[in-house]
Amino acid sequence: QRGLMWFRHDLRIHDNPALANLASSCDTLTCVFVIDPSWSRADHFQSKHLGPQRETFLWQSLTELHRALDAMGQKLIIRTGNPLEVVANLCMDHEFDLIGVTDHPGTRERHQVDTLVSRFPQRVVVSDAHTLFTQHQLPFDLPDIPPTFTQFRKAVEKKGIQPRLPLPVPESLPAPLAGMTSEPAPLSDRRISPYQGGEIAGRAQLNHFLWDTHRVQRYKETRNGLDGWAFSSRLSAWLANGCLSVRWAAAELNRYERNVEQNESTYWLYFELLWREYFQWMLYHYGARFFRFKGIANKRPLTTFYAEAFMAWREGSTDFPIVNAAMRQLKHTGWISNRSRQLVASCLIHELGIDWRYGAAYFEQQLIDFDVAANYGNWQYLAGVGADPRGSRRFNLDKQAAQYDPDGSFVAKWLTNEEPLY
Ligand code: FAD
Repeated sequence: QRGLMWFRHDLRIHDNPALANLASSCDTLTCVFVIDPSWSRADHFQSKHLGPQRETFLWQSLTELHRALDAMGQKLIIRTGNPLEVVANLCMDHEFDLIGVTDHPGTRERHQVDTLVSRFPQRVVVSDAHTLFTQHQLPFDLPDIPPTFTQFRKAVEKKGIQPRLPLPVPESLPAPLAGMTSEPAPLSDRRISPYQGGEIAGRAQLNHFLWDTHRVQRYKETRNGLDGWAFSSRLSAWLANGCLSVRWAAAELNRYERNVEQNESTYWLYFELLWREYFQWMLYHYGARFFRFKGIANKRPLTTFYAEAFMAWREGSTDFPIVNAAMRQLKHTGWISNRSRQLVASCLIHELGIDWRYGAAYFEQQLIDFDVAANYGNWQYLAGVGADPRGSRRFNLDKQAAQYDPDGSFVAKWLTNEEPLY
């Protein structure tokens, strides 16, 4: 049998059921990743999909995936074009018997899978490893997904649902199909961020946070900090790109709790993974409607936009030093803390009066951990629309600066240096 593995947001060989399934049922295997040129074009909300930091993290992750496959006698074929068309053409040209792909809640991603299934019935195998739970495990039918995170979490916890156990790396992979050519991965070196894409670095960060430093034991107290590797797990970029399986992370956390310590902080890391999970299933259920939730607290017309104020926000030259520092960190590194995300989003929505979707689109361009469900879900939450629309969540930026950056070191670090160092 000829197999095709289409990598999308699952850039790993551990806990990749689509890959494992092809490994056990095919004689030859072709692994492909498609670069979509539309990622570098600006959208309706003024931002591209893929900014430089995000791009670098993605290329590093692809390079690492190629290395991992190569070590198992395989290779990663890179192509450019409309991903669905590229994959469909490959299927027609090479008559693959099995096409493996990992499900993803994004509307574009689901459309790709649905179209592929209808064009190549019986041949596409869709695996689910992007979430902790499978859809069948959820304690409700998807149309009945609870309207708030707390209800979702309680429903899951009451039923005692456990994340699916992750799969190991396959012992071997089928040989590549002869004659397949690949474009070189367009590696870029524009990077001052300390992040390194790929599954080795992702798993190393997980080990570091749990087993090497035991920082997880104090996570609940430290997670709200503004900056620094010591505050939170920093796993998001690897989780978002699928370099690290969320099930793997949960299983390691569980192992840590059984072998070392279980406390409020170790639970809190799981609690945050449940936030991630909630947004994934919300997007999965609502599809395109997820992006069109009506404002209830934000009574302004949805398309308010002030170009000058938006530029000041993006470039870090608003009237709020703490926002400026965070926006500069975002531009330079592609990552900011949850606290910073909340403050800059509150500034855009409530101080500058700009439609939250401009902010969300800029985050999409910049964040190396961009995840469509988490990003748009969190922006909506802060704008008081979408899930749990409990009115607007407006932060007093001066008070927040006094509380979270009392000595001004965060602001100083990001506003005084031309190229801040870690
Ligand atoms: P930790 O605090 O260590 O959390 C562990 C993991 O739990 C994270 O890696 C992430 O996968 C998940 N998580 C934590 N908080 C949340 C949350 N509020 N919502 C969903 N998942 C969560 N997170 C993304 O992964 N991608 C995004 O595009 C994204 N955009 C955001 C936009 C806004 C406006 C806000 C307020 C938050 C956003 N978040 C996003 C959520 C959160 O800020 C990041 O997941 C977190 O800061 C990443 O750092 P960490 O891995 O150290 O998190």
